[in-house]
Amino acid sequence: MRILIAGAGIGGLTAALALLRSGIDVEVYEQAPELKEVGAGVQLAANGTRVLYALGIGDELKALSCEAQGKEIRHWQTGETWKLFDLGPASIERYGFPYFTVYRPDLLEVLARAVRRAKPDAIHLGARCAGFTQGDASVTLQLENRGTVRGDALIGADGVHSRIRQTVLGPDRPEFTGTIAWRGVVPMERLPKHMARMVGSNWVGPGGHIVHYPLRAGKVMNFVGVLERSDWRIESWTARGTTEELASDYRGWHEDIQVFIRAIDTPYKWALMVRAPLERWTSRRVTLLGDAAHSMLPFLAQGAVMAIEDGFVLARALAQYGVEEGLQHYEAARRDRTRRTVEGSAANMHRFHNRALADPVEGKRFIDREWTSQRIADRYEWLFRYDAQTVPI
Ligand SMILES: Cc1cc2nc3c(=O)[nH]c(=O)nc-3n(C[C@H](O)[C@H](O)[C@H](O)COP(=O)(O)OP(=O)(O)OC[C@H]3O[C@@H](n4cnc5c(N)ncnc54)[C@H](O)[C@@H]3O)c2cc1C
Repeated sequence: MRILIAGAGIGGLTAALALLRSGIDVEVYEQAPELKEVGAGVQLAANGTRVLYALGIGDELKALSCEAQGKEIRHWQTGETWKLFDLGPASIERYGFPYFTVYRPDLLEVLARAVRRAKPDAIHLGARCAGFTQGDASVTLQLENRGTVRGDALIGADGVHSRIRQTVLGPDRPEFTGTIAWRGVVPMERLPKHMARMVGSNWVGPGGHIVHYPLRAGKVMNFVGVLERSDWRIESWTARGTTEELASDYRGWHEDIQVFIRAIDTPYKWALMVRAPLERWTSRRVTLLGDAAHSMLPFLAQGAVMAIEDGFVLARALAQYGVEEGLQHYEAARRDRTRRTVEGSAANMHRFHNRALADPVEGKRFIDREWTSQRIADRYEWLFRYDAQTVPI
């Protein structure tokens, strides 16, 4: 079996590695001339690290990651703090695997290295996929300026603007959520001591929230700030904003946030779009994974983790059932889980940005009510406990 993969992001490379380790040949086509992720962080909960350990790269990644001791909720104005959940050893105790926070380029590097160890020439760079045709026995992928390649199946792992999705399902109709995400990283030594802690914090406020967590063994702090704002509509990892604009968006927030914002050299901004969950994303020998299949708001920190789970389950399904049947089993195994994650992420927006948070007294009551240990467990346990290695397919 020879599988073509469009896109060498987190999802495409995980799928490539999982397939190669199942003895299935792959070729990965990536539009970028070099493999590089944006310089931001990504949180990998136990359901993701479980897969990365199964693929043999857990320890390599651990050496570059941070294992935050826990996560907390903070009030945007008073700074009052509530526990969300314990991580560090508690993640391993409860779920068997750690919760890593990772610098994206490090994750991509570890994945690419592992793919190349298994097949040195598997990744083709500067290869933009333009579309495909398929017949009874094969699929032909068109590459811009590079002719065509043929394989037994094609996986569209080409992200939120997926060409492969548009070829399967027609034009894309994303809906703007009225929110944008600010991103940045700060060397830890620029932050005051009381902020340079090994925990993940989620500041919630009326119309916006901010998440920050440590990366690279605590040398760097990652910043993601989401804000309701309707004047920016570009979904891009690389669009830059200014510190002044970012500071003005968070005027009135706690002094710690002001200090953090002033320490960010280059803030980036991304318009958050939603796409309705798909019922089907497979067409015979062609399927999708990761953001191409089910992009989601980043409010459960699970988009990349879903792409990782997808890649692993897909490899199992192809190894077990062959191409056409395998792709159907993969899609069926992933439909409900990814839909629930898309919906759960969207539901967090109303929680994180609730107007009740504007008033300190009412806001405290709201947080006490929304973040009880039972409600936290309801929102996260089913995510973290999923085992892509054993889930029925
Ligand atoms: C602000 C923010 C914070 C987030 N935080 C988290 C988090 O903490 N945890 C988490 O799990 N998720 C998080 N996510 C979600 C996560 O980033 C995505 O879900 C994840 O990157 C999806 O991976 P992917 O491989 O499907 O797509 P991508 O990472 O987008 O990769 C797609 C790849 O395909 C390539 N490509 C695109 N078009 C073509 C083409 N035509 N031909 C060839 N190659 C092509 C691209 O260059 C890219 O390399 C966050 C998202 C945002 C916006």
